[in-house]
Order: sequence, then C-alpha cells, then structure tokens
Amino acid sequence: MQHVYQPHVRVRFAPSPTGMLHIGGLRTALFNFLFARHTSGKFLLRIEDTDKERSQQRYIDAILKTLQWCRLTPDEPLVIQSERQDEHVRVAEQLVEEHKAYYCYCTQQEVQSRVGQTTIDGVSYLRYDGFCRKFIGQPRNSQKSYVIRFAVPENCSEITVEDVIKGNITFASDTFDDFILVRSDGAPMYNFVVVVDDAFMRITHIIRGEEHLINTPKQILLYQACGYPLPTFGHLPLILGADGSKMSKRDAAANAFDYMDRGYLPEALCNYLVRLGWSHGDQEIFTLTQMVDAFTLDAISSKGALFDNQKLDWVNSVHLKSSNAAALYEYMKQVMNLPLDRHFTHWSYATIMQLIDLYKQRCVTLQDLYCELILLYKRPTVFEISELTFEQKKLLDSLITLLNITEFTHQILAGCIKEFCKTQEIKLGDLGPLIRVALTGKKDAPGLYDLMTALGKQETISRLTTYYLV
Ligand code: GLU
Ligand code: ZN
Repeated sequence: MQHVYQPHVRVRFAPSPTGMLHIGGLRTALFNFLFARHTSGKFLLRIEDTDKERSQQRYIDAILKTLQWCRLTPDEPLVIQSERQDEHVRVAEQLVEEHKAYYCYCTQQEVQSRVGQTTIDGVSYLRYDGFCRKFIGQPRNSQKSYVIRFAVPENCSEITVEDVIKGNITFASDTFDDFILVRSDGAPMYNFVVVVDDAFMRITHIIRGEEHLINTPKQILLYQACGYPLPTFGHLPLILGADGSKMSKRDAAANAFDYMDRGYLPEALCNYLVRLGWSHGDQEIFTLTQMVDAFTLDAISSKGALFDNQKLDWVNSVHLKSSNAAALYEYMKQVMNLPLDRHFTHWSYATIMQLIDLYKQRCVTLQDLYCELILLYKRPTVFEISELTFEQKKLLDSLITLLNITEFTHQILAGCIKEFCKTQEIKLGDLGPLIRVALTGKKDAPGLYDLMTALGKQETISRLTTYYLV
C-alpha cells in the first residue's frame, strides 16, 4: 500500500520512567512509530517523570536503550516533562484567571468529613463536593495552603470519547469531580500535564494503552478549557497472558530489553509485537518496511491480544534464517557484546560465516546459535565419542584415508562419501551419524557436507582422527 501523505501527523510515546520498558510499552512505541512512518509524520518521545519518588534516571536510560535497540528513535529532541513544570503551573494559573479553575483550601480531612468515600467501578476515592467553587474569580488567599482545582463545566453531564480503535465510548460526568490540577506542594497533576504537553508538542493522534482510556474524558475537558485542538484518540487493546488473563511475568519477560540478552532480533520482536492487536490479512512475517507500508489504525483490533512465547520463538527463527551471516556476526559482537573474536581464534572469518549460515537455520535465538558455535569450536569430548565399536573405528580409518585425497567442496564430498558407502557396503544413514558425532559431538547437526566444507579439510580430518584414536 502507498504511504498516505498526512504531513501533519505527530504522535508520541510517553513512558513513565518508574520501571523498565515492558512488552506492552514497547508495542505502544512501535504502533506510534509505524503510524508516523506510514503517514510521513513525526514520532516523538516524552519522558513523563512527574512522579518524583518513583522516577529514576536508570529507567530513563533503559527506556532509551530499548527504543534504540529496536530502532524506534524519535524525530525530534526528547521532551522531559519535569522540565516543563513552570509552564504547567502557568497554564493552571491562566485557567484560574479565566474562571475555569479555582483555588481550593480544603484539607483532605475536611473533604472527607463532608462527602466521605465514594466507590465507582470498584475503586474508592474521594469525590470533591465543589465547596471552594464559591472562590471562582477571587484572588488567592496567600495565608492558606491551596490546591488548584479544575471547575468541571456545569452543563456537562457526559463526555464521549471518539476512539478510532474502540469506537465511541460515553462516560457519565459523575465519574469525575472538580479534580486537582496542581497539588499543594506546587506539583502539577498527571492528567493535566499530559494535556499541556501534548498540546505543546502539537500531537495530532494519541495512541496509547487501553488502561489510559479512563483518563481521556478528563483530558478532553481540559483540551476544551485550554482551547487546544482536540487530538484523535486510539486506545490499544490489552496484551493478555497465554491463558487470557492479565499478563504475568511468566508470560513474557517483564523487561523488553531482556529479549536482547536472550538473543531475539529487534526486527523479530517488533514483527511479533505488531501482530498483537493489529493484522494485515493473514500475513505473519514482516520486514520493517513491510510493516510501515501496511500499518493503518483501522486495522487495529479492539479486542485483547494473547502473548504467545512459542510464536515469538517462531518469528525470531524466521528472521534469523533470512539474516545475513556477517550482519548476525556484527550484531552478536556489537549489540550483544559476545566475545566472538576471543573465542574462535582458530577459525577463519569465512569459516565462521559458513557456520553461522548453517546454524542459523536450526536455532531459535542468537544465544542458541552462539552456544552451538562454542560447543562446536570446543570439539566433542572423549565422553561423547567413546562409544565407538572396533568396526566403526576401522570404517573411519578408511574414510580418513580417502578424505585426505579429496577436494572439500559440497559436491565432491557428496559424491565421494556415497561412493565410500557403496564400497564399504554400509548405508549413508549409518555412516552419517558417526561422522556427525565425530565432528560435533551430537547426532543432530547440520547437513554433513555443509558442515565438512565449513570446517575445512584439515579440521574435519583432525576431528575424525581424534574420534578414531579414542
Ligand atoms: N506515562 C504514561 C505511561 O507510561 C502514558 C501516558 C499517555 O500515553 O498518555 O503509561
Ligand atoms: Zn475546597
């Protein structure tokens, strides 16, 4: 599909640095990124660090690193929410001036004694009764501690969120009271800063997790009060655990970056994630370009998506197979910091490339591939190959003699070994496993001739000789 040219599209990913970036967060970032690329719009990043107690620099670093690993890099400089606090307070004061907000001097105990706790949808909270609304339009009493409260418009009985994914959702106004914009310690509240910052960043589409839908009606009221143009909202379906319940640590690594250490390719993880709530016919495997080309908001499902580790493994193995060996080698070295150069000193670069090409066909992750190569490099242990009968030793002895005068190409080796089986009156199916164990220590190994050509004549013969000597 052609890219739709919507030059004004500006989307953002707005993580709170109170923990590592989890799978759900990474999917939100990816969907925003893909939508921006598909529409030739801009993808922005904002760090929502207003919760001072829980926000930590190390989480900011980890979030940035994870996004960079997946190449979901923003098109404009990072916006740090806490750096904009003065601006948030300025906008709140402006709303007070315009009689859309007011100073409230009630303590929490006072509110509680007047109205008690209310329970809505199982969540119990303090609904403010509007006691200080009478101060609307009055200057602040500088003797008293205060919060700034939003004056929910009186004529508002319900708010409808027009969600591009979920359709229209109407909230009754009793779900919100005159909520706080700025706390008594001067810290602006979450729903308010999100709106001020999204307007400042000229965000056109807010694509975020379903758990934020509950905030949207309040935010819509704030857009209206501030006179900001209303963005389009789209709330992504939840990611559920394999059994359909809330996703737990057992279902997925809590931290998206763990997948890097485990040897998943970022393009595979993104490919897997894009299908969690979005589809394009029955296509499962996408390159990044294909994802960008195909990605539209109307193909996002409103239903929850199940996290399936086995499918992720499969997607990763497909991407591994189609990756170039040299690129995988560089990736293992540079990104996964695996000490490849230190390990395989006796192997030439060409040998390593051939072996990566062979083993990438049979591995799920790059960790698996790396372990396979290490095992192969170490050579089979005596224990693994000591099961040999006298007959088998004799057989290998003759084979070694033959291999010594054979050129090591796939084709010639294939011809020569078939011939050998004929003269020795044995089946290739019996000889193959012997050679495989001698070369790798395992019966289950890549194709015989590929393996022998990759290892080369000298090493193949030397390994067979060790086998023979045991
Ligand atoms: N900071 C919020 C979070 O990490 C996202 C808020 C939003 O996208 O509006 O869940
Ligand atoms: Zn009050």
